[in-house]
Amino acid sequence: MRLADKLALGYAYGTSLLAYMVDGPPRPFSATFAVTNRCNLRCSYCNCPLIDPTNLDLPRIEVLFDRLREMGVRRLGLAGGEPMMRRDLGDIIALAKERGFWVSVNSNLTLFARHPERLERADLVYTSLDGDETSHVAARGDGSYDGVLAAITRLVADGKPLIAICVVTEHSLGHVDALLRLAESIGFRMHFQPQCVDTDVVRGAVSSSVSNERFRAFWRGLIAEKRKGRPIVSSSPYLEFLSRWEDFSISAYYAPGVRCAAGRGFLYIDPLGKAYPCVYVKGKTTPVDLLAHGWREAWNRETPCTRCTVGPMLEFNLLFERPLSAAVESIHAYA
Ligand code: SF4
Ligand code: SF4
Repeated sequence: MRLADKLALGYAYGTSLLAYMVDGPPRPFSATFAVTNRCNLRCSYCNCPLIDPTNLDLPRIEVLFDRLREMGVRRLGLAGGEPMMRRDLGDIIALAKERGFWVSVNSNLTLFARHPERLERADLVYTSLDGDETSHVAARGDGSYDGVLAAITRLVADGKPLIAICVVTEHSLGHVDALLRLAESIGFRMHFQPQCVDTDVVRGAVSSSVSNERFRAFWRGLIAEKRKGRPIVSSSPYLEFLSRWEDFSISAYYAPGVRCAAGRGFLYIDPLGKAYPCVYVKGKTTPVDLLAHGWREAWNRETPCTRCTVGPMLEFNLLFERPLSAAVESIHAYA
């Protein structure tokens, strides 16, 4: 990461954290924008390709990005659906870069061989690896592994920072060592996250064939692998939190007296420009149309839940709950 990006992100995070600590007007430093719900895959746990396929055009995305900049956002994640389904993804990234955002893109990379130029200006690429080819396909469907390792290898060889995300299901439990060896040999890093349930963008349930204790043991195993210096980007506070989660069939709940930083430190915007504190609460709370209203003024400052296992959200929450330990690790992870 360039020094200018580090300073800009550090400043934005610091002001966001301060606003959170004094319970002032929300000032998210990070936003995730789903550029489309469309996807060429049908992963067993994902609902995105089955919901509204319409999305904002470039002029309206410019309005949205201007709004995000005014709000103090500096870190922008472009997600989906599959962002590479959009022919104008390169233009979207260019608009974001013109406004000084640090930009990551989540992609399954199955379309990369046909359109490598679409990811050229991304600062970081997230992709998916749920295990070896058999377990990845079991979770994500036919064609989901095709060309992915070649794309990862080419992006890493071109110097693009890359993190592969493993959604932890019954299919991935026995594959940690193989995934980490692959990461070590090619030169990327791994993030692990629990399967989410019970919200608009996901479907299915956590397999009842895996006990909660087995899941907890899985997360404890990752802590041990991380301590050995293996390429796990998930932070230690995150892994420890998950190694103590009571029931993995529940992804989020409201705990009285517990704060959540969603909406204050980060937010999610759907393909039509509707904003929510985080992706998980889409369908559970009233959105703000960011093309028409400011987040600070229009958001009711409430989240329907305050504790969760929702992978990226949990990492962000820890940045606000335990700023010192989580931030120090993040600096090492993303610098
Ligand atoms: S998880 Fe990603 S790749 Fe899979 S169906 Fe959903 S959007 Fe597509
Ligand atoms: S606890 Fe907060 S971050 Fe987690 S799902 Fe609920 S609103 Fe989102």
